[in-house]
Amino acid sequence: MKITSTTGESDLATVYVAELADGKLIEFVESVQPPLTRADKWVLIISTLAGCPVRCRFCDAGGFYAGKLSRQEMLAQIDYLVDWRYPDRRVPARKFKIQFARMGEPAFNREVVRVLEELPTRYHAPGLLPSVSTVAPRGTEQFFTELLAVKTGLYRESFQLQFSIHTTDPEARDRLIPVAKWDFPAIAEYGSRFFTAGGKKISLNFAVGNELPIDVGIVRRYFDPGLFVVKITPVNPTDAARRHHLCSAIPPDRENCPVINRLEDAGFQVVLSIGEQEENRIGSNCGQHVLNYLKSNRELEHSYTYPLRVRLSESAKAVDR
Ligand code: SF4
Repeated sequence: MKITSTTGESDLATVYVAELADGKLIEFVESVQPPLTRADKWVLIISTLAGCPVRCRFCDAGGFYAGKLSRQEMLAQIDYLVDWRYPDRRVPARKFKIQFARMGEPAFNREVVRVLEELPTRYHAPGLLPSVSTVAPRGTEQFFTELLAVKTGLYRESFQLQFSIHTTDPEARDRLIPVAKWDFPAIAEYGSRFFTAGGKKISLNFAVGNELPIDVGIVRRYFDPGLFVVKITPVNPTDAARRHHLCSAIPPDRENCPVINRLEDAGFQVVLSIGEQEENRIGSNCGQHVLNYLKSNRELEHSYTYPLRVRLSESAKAVDR
C-alpha cells in the first residue's frame, strides 16, 4: 500500500489517500473529536470498497467504482493508523471507534465481517467499538446475517449499527440513494433482532437538507425509541451535493431545529453531529479526497510506501478454513 497523499490536522482529522498494489485508490481517516482527547476517543474511518456503486447524490465516493477491498486491504488501513501511534498495537483510548464508513457501502463486501472477526485478537484495545453504516441495499441479506452472528459472538454491548435513511419520503429516498433498499419495516425488524439489552441502540441517520423531508410520525410508526436513536447530520458540502443542489437545512442552534424537537417529543434520543467547519476544508466528512485526487491527476509530493503486513490470527485462520 502506497500512501500518496495526506491532508489534515492531527488534532482534528487526517485523510490518507493510498494506492493499492493493483492500482486502486482508497482513502481512510483518523480523527479526534475536540474537546475530547485521543485518549478519550480515537476514531478511524476506513474504506470497504474502492469507490462505491451506489452513487448517493451527496457523496463523492460514488464518483467511481473499482471493486471490493480484500480483508487484508481493509486491515492494512487500520494497521497503518494504529502502528503509526501505537507500534505495540496496544490502543489505550477509552473509546476506540473503527467506522466502516468511508468509501463504499459495507454490505456489498462480506469480507467486512471477516475483518470484524479479526479485530479483537489483532489489537489490544479494551475500548474497541466497531461501527457499520449502511444504506441497507436489497440483496445483501447474507451480509446482515453474518453481521448479526459476529456482533452476537464478539461485540454484544460494544457495536454500533447505523442505517443511513436520510428522509421518510420514499421517492426522495430513492432519488438520494439510487439502489433498491430495505423498506422501514425490514430495517425495524432487523434492528429488533440486532439490539442487545445493555448495548448500543441502533442509529437512524438523517442528513437534514433541502428536498429531504422528515415526517416524525412515520419515524415513530416504524421505529421503537427503546431500540433506535436518531442521528442528525448536515448535508456536507461535497462536489456531489453541490452538483445536485443539496445543502444543509440545520439551523446554527439546536434549539431552533423543529425536527429535533419533534423527534425528542416522540421519545427519541437525538444525536446532533455537526462536525467542525475545518473538517469540510480538510475533506474528512465524506469520500471527497480521492475524487479530488483523481481530478487533480497529478503525482503528489511526499508520497511514500507502507508495506501491506497481514498477521492472521488463529481465529481468522479458522475462518479461512
Ligand atoms: S453514502 Fe455510502 S452508499 Fe452512498 S455512495 Fe457514499 S459510500 Fe456509497
